[in-house]
Amino acid sequence: MRFLAHDLLEGRAPGTRGGRLAAEYLASQFAVAGALPAGEKGTYFQEVPLVSVRVRAGAILRIRGGRGGEPIDLVWLEDFVGIPGAREAGEVSLSAPLVFVGSGGFGSESAADPPGAAKIQGKVVVAFAEPPPGRREKGSPGGKSSGRLSWRQKLEAARRAGAAGTLLIHSEEASGYPWEAVRATWGREAVGLEEDARTGLRFAGWLSWEAGQRLLTRAGHSAEALWKLESTQKPLRLPLKLEIQMHIPLVTRRLRSANAVAMIPGSAPERRQETVVFLAHWDHLGTRAEGEDRVYNGAVDNATGCAALLELARLWASLEKEPARTALFLAVTAGEPVEAGSRWYVRHPLMPLEKTRLLLSFDSLLPVGVPASVAVAGPADAGVWAQIRDAARRLRLPIESGSGQDNGFCASPYWFVQAGVAAYRVRMGARLAGRRDSAGAALWRSYLSRDYHRPTDEFHADWDCAALARIVEFAFLAGRMAADLP
Ligand SMILES: [Zn+2]
Repeated sequence: MRFLAHDLLEGRAPGTRGGRLAAEYLASQFAVAGALPAGEKGTYFQEVPLVSVRVRAGAILRIRGGRGGEPIDLVWLEDFVGIPGAREAGEVSLSAPLVFVGSGGFGSESAADPPGAAKIQGKVVVAFAEPPPGRREKGSPGGKSSGRLSWRQKLEAARRAGAAGTLLIHSEEASGYPWEAVRATWGREAVGLEEDARTGLRFAGWLSWEAGQRLLTRAGHSAEALWKLESTQKPLRLPLKLEIQMHIPLVTRRLRSANAVAMIPGSAPERRQETVVFLAHWDHLGTRAEGEDRVYNGAVDNATGCAALLELARLWASLEKEPARTALFLAVTAGEPVEAGSRWYVRHPLMPLEKTRLLLSFDSLLPVGVPASVAVAGPADAGVWAQIRDAARRLRLPIESGSGQDNGFCASPYWFVQAGVAAYRVRMGARLAGRRDSAGAALWRSYLSRDYHRPTDEFHADWDCAALARIVEFAFLAGRMAADLP
């Protein structure tokens, strides 16, 4: 963790020297652990062709209509950020009507509701990025969706419905992190898959809470009232009678990066093609041009997950008898901001996806305290859920109820679940041993508000790694049981 989060790695952005060093380091450590190359041409790497897009100075969103008067001009970084589609040449230049969809589903996430999609097509979708706090879905782990979408799912749904773009309204209250973190993620050079460039949104944008208020007020709506309306679960499609004009100058470039991937083959010849996969993204946000501390070290996010991956490889290699199925250790690139490395793997798997029995993903494990519970988000109806529950029971780690709507789940595992894989995100739960109730949850909130996607996400020598050890122990046991199932 110390090495990956070191300033010398310059924030591990894909396509940079620091990024390559991180991937090379992981491959070397896999080799030292005794795990074999599982990448292309006998290497530890799977190349991922990426496009990066950078917005140039002078980007502007102009909003007209509604309650009349001068148009509202929204300013890049201050009021809005976002990522233009990589197929755009030189500038995103478009005029489109706006439609507000709350934070719920808008009819395009399933093919069953084409009328919903029709109302979105060609428009710019305005939505709350996250549902109001306290109105998130509770329920069993991996509980069924009731129609509210995480911001990731909203982007995907908007894209599928043929929307021209999105403007997601950020709320610090709902997300737990400040605008500065959104700006650091979406207001910079951003990478996506080259092959997605053709089908993507023309602009995947975010608005600050204040800018969102101005826009909704202009349309004659009270943002507070719309925020409250969120308690109803009806899909909302509210044309705003506003038009937006986007002028977003940009530069695109191609770059290459790689997933680092290793394996320990299963001992049963007839089940060797079947896998248990452990996954973590190795990249982070790189550097910024200004400020005293310019490096986004990404220590918690996600040197911790990479450390868990390496430890799992060591543990697996140390077993006297290999489990029947193969273990795959997948350190993916371009996790920020939209999991390009994971998407690439799902479309170009190195081991058959339909024979992937279990995938456990680690992102941002907090190295504090000893977890007394574990949070596992993903499909609870998969057969392998029995092994996950069993492992938790044996380690006396109650599984916390989470939800499939949890944004954490919707990161890398999301793309695997879409492809039919039993994929889960594992992290420490809200309870810590010997601490008051939800001490873990409070520490997580403080991480989000202070360090998440900021240069202060640094390695600290006094970290208590007992927490990570506990999570690794749990993942190892669950993975091993899944790998040895008859
Ligand atoms: Zn992350």
